[in-house]
Amino acid sequence: MIIMETGASESDIAAVIAEVRKHGLRSDIVRENASTVINVVGDQSGVPFAAFAGLPGVRQAERIEKPYRLINRECAREYGGDTGRRVIHVGDVAIGGDEPVFIAGPCAVQSRQQLFDIAEQVKTAGAHILRGGIFKPRSSVHSFQGLGSVSPEQAEEALSWLREAGDAFGMPVITEVRGETQVDLVARYVDILQIGTRNMYDQDLLAAAGRKKKPVLFKRHFGAGIEEFLSFAEYIAAEGNRDIMLCERGILPLGKGKSYTRYTLDLASIPVLQQESYLPVVVDPSHATGRRDLIGPMSRAAVAAGANALMIETHTDPDTSPVDAAQMITPDELKEVISSCRRLRNIETAVI
Ligand code: PEP
Ligand code: MN
Repeated sequence: MIIMETGASESDIAAVIAEVRKHGLRSDIVRENASTVINVVGDQSGVPFAAFAGLPGVRQAERIEKPYRLINRECAREYGGDTGRRVIHVGDVAIGGDEPVFIAGPCAVQSRQQLFDIAEQVKTAGAHILRGGIFKPRSSVHSFQGLGSVSPEQAEEALSWLREAGDAFGMPVITEVRGETQVDLVARYVDILQIGTRNMYDQDLLAAAGRKKKPVLFKRHFGAGIEEFLSFAEYIAAEGNRDIMLCERGILPLGKGKSYTRYTLDLASIPVLQQESYLPVVVDPSHATGRRDLIGPMSRAAVAAGANALMIETHTDPDTSPVDAAQMITPDELKEVISSCRRLRNIETAVI
């Protein structure tokens, strides 16, 4: 990290960037008021930081060993603002602010009518953002892969339904981008790009999504530790995109015998992620539990632990969902979950 003097000239800054480039590295430049910070992106092991400190206009140059620095709460205070927390604005929705945000919709988009019915009802229930899977990651090639995999025409049509449904009911929209080749197409239609648990390690996808400069909802791999999760989020940030939502969606259950839940919701990850990073934390109780009867308790637990947003799979006729039927709740149930989470948040705010 290279901190420039307040009065450093543009040519001083350009000279430092050129020097960084000589080492085969990239610069991430943060300008705030009159101060400029140049974050060095890449392998810094061979970088002579002491030499950088001697360049004109440089106040301080130091190596930071953390595998994630650009999203680190300590190393990048400027991104968290006064509160040390980043608020991501998508349309009228603020993620990371005082109110918990609710993202709801079906696991998979099935038809225009299905999506419009669900969109209307989740909006009435209090949801802020509409979700709907079009490119589905599936464990078996013989399962329904989402309308996105039917044909390129069907993919684009389903994306346009999502856009229309969001616009019709006043909600920004989010869908998963399953591979690098889908990034351009998906980004043309949605407000937030979702990277799924199975793709947490796909550096090329992360970088391509980061370059779109649209908010990214980034899911933790079900086998990843928190440091690893944050290290991979850094790939998105390294493209100059800090609008990243960190999503806890359950990690692999432990031990022998029946685990009773699909994954284990790591509730402690919520405050840990918020201590480590300024980025907002989203919790997905649907994939974490796989059980509709646990969505209410785990949503409330997540809000109590400080989650900034929840993503809840919702369907007007849950049992008919071709994917994840067992974890889908109805819009009426969603309404209850949202109002109980709000009551809880109000109590919490009054107490703390
Ligand atoms: C999803 O949200 O549609 C999804 C497939 O989730 P995950 O990547 O967490 O399994
Ligand atoms: Mn699902």
